[in-house]
Amino acid sequence: MRSPIDIYLADLYDDLVGLSAGTTYQGIPAMADADNSKFAIAMATVDGHVYQIGDAELEFSIQSISKPFSYALALDDIGLDAVDEKIDVEPSGDAFNEISLARNTGRPANAMINAGAITTISLIRDRDTPRFERILDHFSAAAGRRLKLNESLYASEALTGHRNRALAYLLRSFDIIETDPTPVLEDYFRACSVMVNTHDLALMAATLANGGTQPATGVQVMSKDAVQRTLSVMTTCGMYDDAGAWIAAVGLPAKSGVGGGLIAVLPGQLGLAIYSPALDEHGSSVRGVAASERISSDMGLHFVRAA
Ligand code: GLU
Repeated sequence: MRSPIDIYLADLYDDLVGLSAGTTYQGIPAMADADNSKFAIAMATVDGHVYQIGDAELEFSIQSISKPFSYALALDDIGLDAVDEKIDVEPSGDAFNEISLARNTGRPANAMINAGAITTISLIRDRDTPRFERILDHFSAAAGRRLKLNESLYASEALTGHRNRALAYLLRSFDIIETDPTPVLEDYFRACSVMVNTHDLALMAATLANGGTQPATGVQVMSKDAVQRTLSVMTTCGMYDDAGAWIAAVGLPAKSGVGGGLIAVLPGQLGLAIYSPALDEHGSSVRGVAASERISSDMGLHFVRAA
């Protein structure tokens, strides 16, 4: 028997599947021809139950939704203070690829834009395994299954990522990145090219909702301090240059990626994920934003909802 949430999600899907606005990400040829008709919504509770509708097993690249998870890993690796020395926690209000660096120090505004996310990668250490293996292990632990890198997408990111290269070298010139920028960039491009589905993203979001413990496996993936900080930065900076309008309308910490994925987190309760590849002018999934607004309003999830 279908639960009330399953029925609700099915109705929502039917209401929004007709939305045809937006265009797929044109920055990388491999992503430009994603199928606009695809749409999925998944909701994972902190006790590990996943409700889903649509193409929830279809894989796509995580893109910028990697940023909060890389940030949490760096925070746990070297501590909040050491990360803060390199990356600020101020909303830039700028687009994801903007050169939002402090004029004198070169410190990026936050970890959710590319400059901050590339710096984040440089702060993650090689331990027993090389840095990217650790990143992939970390994303996989949050998803609760083994995720894979899309090698051809990575190659395409690396070939076309001139602006990210420029950013990385600028960061190196300020000593924000203290090592050779090339391996850092390679791991940044790899982190963006990890394949996930909407079910995975809902569980990754629910891991954040659950204080860093993956709800289905019970594995502690991140510390509570790292989660608190990550969700704070997602709240103010997670939605590119649309973060203010997003928080006013939806009122949840969130992150979108140009692959068409979007996550939102209701701390202590649930992780929400939506996939649909047509993006609005800010680079967020059109159906993803519409579905989030509806869910937040219908379920009263806004963190400052009127009594
Ligand atoms: N790989 C993309 C870039 O670095 C990710 C952008 C995004 O999802 O916002 O430009």
